[in-house]
Amino acid sequence: MPAAALILFYLLIALAPLALAAGRGRPPRPVMDEIASGMAMVAFAILLMEFVLSGRFRSISGRVGLDVTMRFHQLLARTALVLALAHPFLYTLPFARPLPFDPTRQLTLTFAAEGLVTGVLAFVLLPGFVILSIARDRIGWRYETWRLAHGLGALAIAVLVLIHARHAGRYSADPQLAGLWAVLTAAAVLSLAHVYLLKPLLARRRPWEVTGLRQLAERTWEVVLSPRGHEGISYRAGQFAWIRIGAPVFSLRENPFSIASAPGEGKDLRFVIKELGDFTATLSGIPLGTRAHVDGPHGNLVLEGRQGSGIAFIAGGVGIAPMLSLLRQLEIDGDPRPTVLVYGNRHAGQIACTEDLARMRRQHRTEVVQVLSEPPQGWEGERGMVDAALIARLFTEARHRDWLYVLCGPAPMMEGVEEALLDLGVAPRQIISERFQHD
Ligand SMILES: Cc1cc2nc3c(=O)[nH]c(=O)nc-3n(C[C@H](O)[C@H](O)[C@H](O)COP(=O)(O)OP(=O)(O)OC[C@H]3O[C@@H](n4cnc5c(N)ncnc54)[C@H](O)[C@@H]3O)c2cc1C
Repeated sequence: MPAAALILFYLLIALAPLALAAGRGRPPRPVMDEIASGMAMVAFAILLMEFVLSGRFRSISGRVGLDVTMRFHQLLARTALVLALAHPFLYTLPFARPLPFDPTRQLTLTFAAEGLVTGVLAFVLLPGFVILSIARDRIGWRYETWRLAHGLGALAIAVLVLIHARHAGRYSADPQLAGLWAVLTAAAVLSLAHVYLLKPLLARRRPWEVTGLRQLAERTWEVVLSPRGHEGISYRAGQFAWIRIGAPVFSLRENPFSIASAPGEGKDLRFVIKELGDFTATLSGIPLGTRAHVDGPHGNLVLEGRQGSGIAFIAGGVGIAPMLSLLRQLEIDGDPRPTVLVYGNRHAGQIACTEDLARMRRQHRTEVVQVLSEPPQGWEGERGMVDAALIARLFTEARHRDWLYVLCGPAPMMEGVEEALLDLGVAPRQIISERFQHD
């Protein structure tokens, strides 16, 4: 299913409660009441679908990319928050007691304890939960602690909203809508089970082992994992995997890394990892033979299905990792198209994988453009940042218009490069990128 179909499918599900409610043919209420109920129902559908979006389903993130999936997740969380917070203020019939002309309470808001208490709790918890997610990097929690709180918090809010909808909602107890909530709740619970139960269980049956570890550059390491007792994974160049090294299979200590080796190189997986936080800082001390687990492949920073008379790879720092995989696979396949690798770093000590770069130049005739913002004396490469000016200078010719551009690096670099390429007349579909930011 292409990405557009996935988005359409998502919209259909998010709006399905409106169609089901409209189909009930209930007596009309003031329009603002209907809008309020509609907003609440769409917010709930979005909330339940958030679990599916973060459920690591390859059929979703493999098509639109994990970073796009997670940005969609964030945007929709904010949308659901606005809808949920606004809806109680739109009701025009806040009658706690039945109206004399409405004995069946078709027109009246109910304030039964279950509906009221759960609604108020969810109303208070939801904004706190979204703010905690937006401010994650500033609150100083360990990533794993935040992730656990995020999962449990989302589940608690979903349960509260489900009870609230059943007891206070005008339509949610109707069989069709109740059926929809049951299906979406089941999808949410299964998504959690997929990540936290099924994937660890499968991973336990397919263990890996650390068979290589060496320093490539300042605070940058190469880690090699080899499958033990199985054939490894089947992946496409440019994809990534979640890996756990030396941690129990059910622990939350797993991190996503691009696979830097190419499928054509064999079963071992190579990763190029930069020290950043608590897990990556321990890399240097990992003994060979340590047990590891791999969940992958994921992501769609891949060349399959994409056109381009040449390919430019534009990397900043450890963004070089997926480029190594893509370039190596092109080399193995003997792909005749011209390739350029633009690789930016701050200083020379940060340049990783110099042997790979030399081999690419020699064997695949890849033009390697090294860029340093703090170059040493006598530096022969480019000076400064990987920015619009450099891109405009490197890719000026008409033949570059229909090249494919693959971007990976710090967000400001990727945004600047993307803008520069669009200004040069490169079509958006010719630019693919991946952010090393999961949520
Ligand atoms: C698709 C993708 C591919 C990546 N490829 C590479 C790569 O090839 N090489 C490389 O050096 N880095 C890569 N990263 C970044 C890498 O995942 C983080 O640097 C690493 O997880 C940091 O872990 P830590 O425990 O050392 O640091 P922490 O201090 O725990 O985390 C620092 C930040 O890393 C991210 N992070 C940490 N743990 C996780 C997790 N379990 N899931 C998602 N995000 C997490 C969070 O944004 C967090 O704020 C990639 C990230 C993504 C999303």
